[in-house]
Amino acid sequence: MTGIKVAIINNQEEKSMLVTKRLTELLAQSDNTIDQENPELVISVGGDGTLLSAFHLFSHRLAEVRFLGVHTGHLGFYTDWRDYELEELVDTLCNDRQKSVSYPLLDVRITYTNGKSEKHFLALNESTIKRGNRTMVADISIKEDLFEKFRGDGLSISTPTGSTAYNKSVGGAVLHPSINAFQLAEIASLNNRVFRTLGSPIIVGDHEWVKVKLQASTDYLVTIDQFTIEQEEIDAIYYRIADERIHFASYRHMHFWNRVKDAFIGEI
Ligand code: NAD
Repeated sequence: MTGIKVAIINNQEEKSMLVTKRLTELLAQSDNTIDQENPELVISVGGDGTLLSAFHLFSHRLAEVRFLGVHTGHLGFYTDWRDYELEELVDTLCNDRQKSVSYPLLDVRITYTNGKSEKHFLALNESTIKRGNRTMVADISIKEDLFEKFRGDGLSISTPTGSTAYNKSVGGAVLHPSINAFQLAEIASLNNRVFRTLGSPIIVGDHEWVKVKLQASTDYLVTIDQFTIEQEEIDAIYYRIADERIHFASYRHMHFWNRVKDAFIGEI
């Protein structure tokens, strides 16, 4: 069996750097090779944030690349392997059967009022829109139809795998990643006799899109996973399920609801 090309992306924690060194040594002793430019497998060493960084580094090669996470802190949502399992991990790579599981991503398209060309992003967890210190005012449409006029702190739009992250903190539902849909959750919406929103998260199917048309202002903050982009002169942001998906190497499988239970509830 021929080896595979592996890239390793680690955070700057001392433990992660030691794990990366050991993993590099073990890979050098096997048939597999390190290739940081054109890998077939990307191993992130750190936490969920490190896997998010690895995703963004290789988001232009999603069709060719599988991801795998080694965690050096507490168990993460994208990190299945522990730092003391490196020998087993490399043995597994040597017998690689190309097994993978894929999850939906969020397609984000931003258009501008000043004629600037539109920008396009992919998010693995979520995108949020917030506005400096003032009430955010936006018209939210689903496909071509106006759904509601939003006033509040902001909006979180998440993927199924991102539903356990920021989305959960703002009261969104946890969505099984086999569901090809995205979720829009309000952040502190204003609801009174004058202003009215639905007030609960909504789950939007893969044949639909959401348009957030923003009131003219220069102080919006748009996040894509861990990145924050200060945006000026935004006209609207369009969200839909991306054509691309992320592929994870599935050498071992942890049932999604067990992972949720393990992270948020613990032993009963
Ligand atoms: P980080 O790596 O410190 O991550 C922050 C926390 O979020 C960690 O505990 C991490 O394990 C957890 N996390 C990340 N993705 C997750 C997921 N899909 N499911 C469950 N938990 C998840 O910080 P970072 O590198 O800045 O990561 C960015 C992510 O952090 C964002 O995408 C956002 O979802 C999350 N975040 C959450 C909050 C909140 O819950 N209030 C606030 C800011 C950012």
